[in-house]
Parts: sequence; C-alpha cells; structure tokens
Amino acid sequence: MVHRVRILEAENVTHDVRRFRFEKPAGYAFEPGQATDVMIDRAGWREKKRPFTFTCLRDRDYLEFTIKIYSDHDGVTNQLGGLGAGDHLLIEDPWGTIQYKGKGIFIAGGAGITPFIAILRDLAEKSEIEGNQLFFANKTERDIILRDTWEKMRGLGHVFVTDDGSGGFPSSRIDKAFLERHVRDFGQHFYVCGPDRMVADLKATLKELGAEPDALVFEK
Ligand SMILES: Cc1cc2nc3c(=O)[nH]c(=O)nc-3n(C[C@H](O)[C@H](O)[C@H](O)COP(=O)(O)OP(=O)(O)OC[C@H]3O[C@@H](n4cnc5c(N)ncnc54)[C@H](O)[C@@H]3O)c2cc1C
Repeated sequence: MVHRVRILEAENVTHDVRRFRFEKPAGYAFEPGQATDVMIDRAGWREKKRPFTFTCLRDRDYLEFTIKIYSDHDGVTNQLGGLGAGDHLLIEDPWGTIQYKGKGIFIAGGAGITPFIAILRDLAEKSEIEGNQLFFANKTERDIILRDTWEKMRGLGHVFVTDDGSGGFPSSRIDKAFLERHVRDFGQHFYVCGPDRMVADLKATLKELGAEPDALVFEK
C-alpha cells in the first residue's frame, strides 16, 4: 500500500546527509532496521522508487529518514536535498533488512549506519545497549553521521576510523588486522552495512575468523 505523507521538517545532520521527519500514517508500524520504498510526490519522480530506512524510535508520532544526498547527479537523493516542510513523499509498507538478534558488533560504512540508528536507539531506550559495539568507517571526520549520539550512548563501545585520519581517528580500514585487534569473541553477532565492496570484504573476512555476519549492501 502506498501512503502519501507530508514532510514536517528537514535539516542537515552532516554536510551531505539530511534528516527528514514526516507524517506517520494511522496504524503504520515498523521494526528497528526496517526500510521501505520511497518516491517523491512530484511529476517525473513518482516512478523512481528508492529504499530508505526508518531511523526514529517506533513510539514517535512522526516517521524519520536519514538520507545521504548525492548531488553529483540528478537522482532521487539530489531531488530530496531540495525538499522541505510541506512537500510530500510516497512511502510503501515497511520491509525487513537487518534485524537485531542479540548483542554484538555493528560495522557500518558511511550511510550504512542508518539501520543501526534505529536498532541502537531502540536498545538504548530499552536499557539493553550494554555490551554492544559500533565500528564506524567514514571518509573524513565530517562524514560521521550522529557522532554525538554514538559518543554519548552509555554502554555502547565505539571505534571510529576515517580514511584520511581526520579527527585524530585511526586511518586503518576495518579489515582482518583491525578485527583481530578489536574483537575478542568471534562467536557473537556481527551486523554489517555499507558500500558493496566493504560488505563483501568483511563478510569473507568475518567468515574466515569464525563469525556468521548479517550483512546488507547499501551503495554501489
Ligand atoms: C535496503 C536499503 C535501505 C537503504 N536505506 C538508506 C537510508 O536510510 N539512507 C540513505 O542515505 N541511503 C539508504 N540506502 C541507499 C539509497 O537507497 C541510495 O543511496 C539511493 O537509492 C540513491 O538514489 P539516487 O537516485 O540518488 O542515486 P542512484 O541514481 O540510484 O545512484 C546510486 C549510486 O550510484 C552513483 N551514481 C549513479 N549515477 C551517477 C552519476 N551519473 N554520477 C555520479 N554518481 C552516480 C551514486 O553516487 C550512488 O552511489 C538504502 C539502500 C538499501 C538497499
């Protein structure tokens, strides 16, 4: 079913990532980690469906997406970058992507953090965050989505890495050597989301180390 929803507010959370809050249709419910197909309700754009993940807590009276805007070509996210309060989106019913199965390590690259925003917020709200860890890789310090949230989430271990070492973070990649250095137990859950190359490499590496990751490819 398609729902027409009004954007309530839109604001930047990094230089190229925008948070959209919009109306929640009556009875609409999602699980943390779920996504849906989204279209812009404008001529020429209604046929262009793209998946985005809900990032707010479930009990809020609005819905939220956190979206990386690619302004280098005139795709859907570039158009989304120009939308604000009063504009409309068309959203379908929610469907599953990554679901929380128990304590573990969340590994995200860039906008691949979005399913973990909902899952980790939900765990923090239920006081069940303790023992979970976030490894978050970005190109530069200014690309870190919701850095404050992760740093302040008590009980969540976090390790940031940046490609260029900005922010004083290690410039190492999240690879075998990194994992061997930061992980003691490969029998716990691993959740991986990011660009396809990163996800493919990490799936193979984690398997080699004895883990069974849940993984989701986000960007090409
Ligand atoms: C299940 C799922 C959930 C997702 N949830 C989120 C989310 O919550 N937040 C989020 O930010 N993203 C999310 N994504 C990714 C998001 O769907 C894509 O980033 C989005 O569809 C891109 O749409 P687009 O029309 O702007 O780009 P598209 O035209 O679809 O292009 C996609 C990719 O190709 C590149 N590209 C294509 N054409 C060009 C060109 N001409 N020049 C330069 N680059 C080009 C873009 O840089 C981009 O990486 C999710 C993906 C999946 C599969």
